[in-house]
Amino acid sequence: MANSDRTIASVAFPMVMSGVYDYTIPARFLGKVCVGMPAFVDLRNRKLWGVVVSLKSFSPYGNLKELADIKTDRWSDADNSLIKLYEWMASYYQCDLGKLFKPFIRKSLIEAKSKFITVYQIAKIPESAALTEKQNAAFQKIRGYVGEELTATICQAALAITPHVLGELCKKGAVIKKRIAVLRKSEEQKVAEDNASYGGAIVLTKEQSDAVGKIREHGALRPHLLYGITGSGKTHVYIDLVKQTLEQGQSAIVLVPEISLTPQTIQRFRDAVGDCIAVIHSRMSNGERYDSLAELVSGRKRLVIGVRSAILVPVVGLGLIIVDEEHDQSYKQSDTDPRYNARDVAVMRGNIQKATVVLGSATPSLETFYNAQTGKYRLVTLARRYGKAALPSVQIIDMRKEKDVNNWTFLSRYLRIRIEETLAAQRQTILLLNRRGFSTVLICKDCGHVYSCPSCSVRLTYHKSEAMLKCHQCGYFQNEPSSCEKCKGLQLKFKGCAIQKAEEMLREDFPQARILRMDQDTTKGKTGHIDIIEAFERREADILLGTQMVSKGLNFPGVALVGVLAADVGLHFPDFRAQERTFQLLSQVAGRAGRADSEGEVVIQTYFPEDSAIVAAKSHDYIEFYNKEIIDREALSYPPFGKLARILVTGKIEANVRMVCSRIAKQMETHTTILTLGPAKAAWERLKNDYRYCFLIKSGSPRAIRDATCAMRKAVVPPRDVRVVVDIDPVNML
Ligand SMILES: [Zn+2]
Ligand SMILES: [Zn+2]
Repeated sequence: MANSDRTIASVAFPMVMSGVYDYTIPARFLGKVCVGMPAFVDLRNRKLWGVVVSLKSFSPYGNLKELADIKTDRWSDADNSLIKLYEWMASYYQCDLGKLFKPFIRKSLIEAKSKFITVYQIAKIPESAALTEKQNAAFQKIRGYVGEELTATICQAALAITPHVLGELCKKGAVIKKRIAVLRKSEEQKVAEDNASYGGAIVLTKEQSDAVGKIREHGALRPHLLYGITGSGKTHVYIDLVKQTLEQGQSAIVLVPEISLTPQTIQRFRDAVGDCIAVIHSRMSNGERYDSLAELVSGRKRLVIGVRSAILVPVVGLGLIIVDEEHDQSYKQSDTDPRYNARDVAVMRGNIQKATVVLGSATPSLETFYNAQTGKYRLVTLARRYGKAALPSVQIIDMRKEKDVNNWTFLSRYLRIRIEETLAAQRQTILLLNRRGFSTVLICKDCGHVYSCPSCSVRLTYHKSEAMLKCHQCGYFQNEPSSCEKCKGLQLKFKGCAIQKAEEMLREDFPQARILRMDQDTTKGKTGHIDIIEAFERREADILLGTQMVSKGLNFPGVALVGVLAADVGLHFPDFRAQERTFQLLSQVAGRAGRADSEGEVVIQTYFPEDSAIVAAKSHDYIEFYNKEIIDREALSYPPFGKLARILVTGKIEANVRMVCSRIAKQMETHTTILTLGPAKAAWERLKNDYRYCFLIKSGSPRAIRDATCAMRKAVVPPRDVRVVVDIDPVNML
């Protein structure tokens, strides 16, 4: 809040260094500076943008420099509540306060400017004698657009008026030339706005409107878990809640997983609430991001739809936060500071800013469902599928039996027949195979050598289209070898079926089918994923073959069959959430079948048909899965029964890494209220030439974990070549 007797601003830096530095506020800025505002300052003879994190009237340091510049239109936090959230995050996730401003404080973003274009508009009808024949002809054309602003391109290309004639018309006062600011919008938003409406006004079912009523009645008192089976119309509930919130003059934030941010999603909200949506995602340009933020800070836009970092955005008068697919891993930032989980931050933001919080999922994370069971969250259930759609029937295919009858292909006999029948019925099929590349390994038949990445402990994947072996961890690649690098033998063999190979085999087996592939390799670029989704939606393909991207929040009424080619990928990951993730993935992808008024079928191929995650997915029974899984969690004190932190120690010289590990181990031993496991080699022992060791910290008390890890950080200062990272509530255990 602006305060004129506090003349010192403490500034932190998101990009460069940790710590906070004091500056005096020069007279011209007095009363204008507030916490959260970008400030341009001199730091050790470098000029750079930082962020004001506190204001005070006294500094213990002498010879303070002045703030050189501020930006008053980039932040709004009238009651200083958003900065409270940031302070909580800095403390809970143990990171520098300045680092939390990374999405907003970047030279290229702060110095981005509004985009202006020149437009022409009819002014008045001049004396006809005042215009030449040519000018009059041009004038008559423009007259057809009274009240509209025409761009230079439209005048020149569509109306065929030369710049010279246009200039003359302006000079004579018949046409006015103006400069106006235009909003840069993300591709998703543009596509959504170009399309016709999604399907008319939404009429809520009784169950949906009861859900809205329950959530509104209790409001911000406690977070709500909207547990609704796939196809039960959670989105309808979200839209209605958002609409009512906006009608009351408040703002709303809707978080979706990265891949769910499609034109479909934006369009459905836009149909209901009109043009007040700002979009935030990771593929935006600085200009698009700048415009979205400016519209939100000014209050001109009051609905944010965005991915993870949208939870950090300042909005005016926040009344509602929705986290769709709250179980999704993409809400956790694992690879860089701050290592926050946007879902958990949403709950805290709702608490601090008195906003209603709704976490929605068909397969809630065990932590969230447990909170709803114990009363910490309120449970609101949608048990019925929307419209006439029934839950699809699920067939489990035991792939071991296929081998018994000499079927060595990637398709079981049953799924092959069902694909044929679906093609014949002119319906669509989605196939899921969660493995990128062509073949999973290249192996030498002579000496048994398996090609691995030279800098990571992972196997290289063969990408046939480029004739290359690639590391999916570090991006290392090499050309396909012609002889074994170890024994020079010539009998190299590709093993394992990944998605490119599956595509090739599908094209051979079903030559009449139109097939689209959706994975990281086909969705590069700004609009790759949108193009594929749109094409499939327009039914320009019969089969969509994809990695887990195809499982998330998409709605294709034409899909009658969903096949999971290898349900076991990920089931045996060294991670206590492996079962939960498999169940979630299978349930989510199964939910893509039978979305409209027809029945759907799901076929799951597996080598482990008895596994509890797969059995529960067959019966669409989340509660059954939860009840089994929660017992294991309790027995091992895993979340929700205990808090976890992971300490990851990495470096190029293994001896140094181990030395730091033993110092950490000694330090952690002194704390009796926590349990320290490790050091152990991480599941990925090496990554990008780094040796990796980890500790797992368990405790019933989050405070005990924080105290112990903070004390460890102070006590153990690693040498320059070793990095120590503390990840609170870790999601990535590899
Ligand atoms: Zn690698
Ligand atoms: Zn060999």
